[in-house]
Amino acid sequence: MLTHKFRLYPSKTIEQKLLETLEICRRGYNTFLGELNEQKEIDKSQIQGIIPDMKICDAQFSKVHSKSLQYECYKLFSNLKTLSKSKGKRKVGQLRFKGKGVFKTFTYNQSGFKLINTDKRCQTLWLSKIGNVSIRCHRPIQCNIKQITIKKMQSGKWFAFIIEDGNRQIQYRKTNRVVGIDVGLIDVAYDSDGNSIANPKHLKQKEDRLKHLQRLMSNKRKRSSNRNRFRIQLARQYENLTNSRDDFLHKLSDYYVKNYDVIAMEDLAIANMAKGYYSKSILDACWGRFRQFVSYKAGSADKMLMLVDYRGTTQRCSQCGETVQKGLGERMHSCPKCGFTVPRDYNSALEIRRLCLERIRQELPEYKHLEMEALPIGQLLSVKNEAPCES
Ligand SMILES: [Zn+2]
Repeated sequence: MLTHKFRLYPSKTIEQKLLETLEICRRGYNTFLGELNEQKEIDKSQIQGIIPDMKICDAQFSKVHSKSLQYECYKLFSNLKTLSKSKGKRKVGQLRFKGKGVFKTFTYNQSGFKLINTDKRCQTLWLSKIGNVSIRCHRPIQCNIKQITIKKMQSGKWFAFIIEDGNRQIQYRKTNRVVGIDVGLIDVAYDSDGNSIANPKHLKQKEDRLKHLQRLMSNKRKRSSNRNRFRIQLARQYENLTNSRDDFLHKLSDYYVKNYDVIAMEDLAIANMAKGYYSKSILDACWGRFRQFVSYKAGSADKMLMLVDYRGTTQRCSQCGETVQKGLGERMHSCPKCGFTVPRDYNSALEIRRLCLERIRQELPEYKHLEMEALPIGQLLSVKNEAPCES
């Protein structure tokens, strides 16, 4: 399964219909939920069975493709499942009715859509009960389409998420190389081959602009049209930042998956909390996403992402194992025992790589052919040398 995200360019009339569909799906969802609350014993098929009656009682429901309504029913039950899973773990209530404007997506499953090739910049997406929408498919779809979800973004743009059958295998040759990557605040990543990748300047600028807008908006009166204007602007900027960052992270993760067979990173979910008082939500999101990208790319290229225990990677000397205490502001690692002196993030990257190799030795004999020794050190470190993805 592969998901594509394509931009839609609906005309005014079509957009009206899209909004109407969102609204009807929301009401459908609420109707199903109401029905569910009435039931003594939960019976999914019975709830799904009321769709024809709903259409008779309220002609509005006929304006939506029946699969889309069915999908709302499916969504309700999957919400229910999630809810019952978290019962006991934390305090949970009941499923809630969805208020006006809450719904941002609706879905066509299996049928009710058709992608029409036009040989132009934009293709046409035909949606049952709605009509033709211009769609910009910037990537070819090779297999059968299983499902299409239409989404309205905060910024007012529309997108289609198209799920196609089949897997795409990335063909990258084996390199027999292992890399450790340390993610950080000053450099986005520092790897065990001595490359440091700085946070690109354009992202920094966008972050600053975002903060500025946020401040402007918070000064405006609640629910005023002025505030709403800023809200949309902010949403646009935010989308823009996410896109640029994703682009950067895609290139970066691609570089690593292409050039290494095993990529080791810290198991950071806990570490984030440990480093909590630094925490800058934007950067946190960036780390998680980077790892996620590496993970799925490695998966489809038959390579491996290994997560190692983050504890001690900063303090331990990667060459002799000595614990070298460092303050938060100290940027260098200098080992009194063996004299190894490098930037601290570089030492962490080497340590992450060492831990990874150790685990391979113990647990994964099939990977034993990989290089088992650390690279020679000393001549590396022309810092910021080949940032692999600066564009
Ligand atoms: Zn040492």
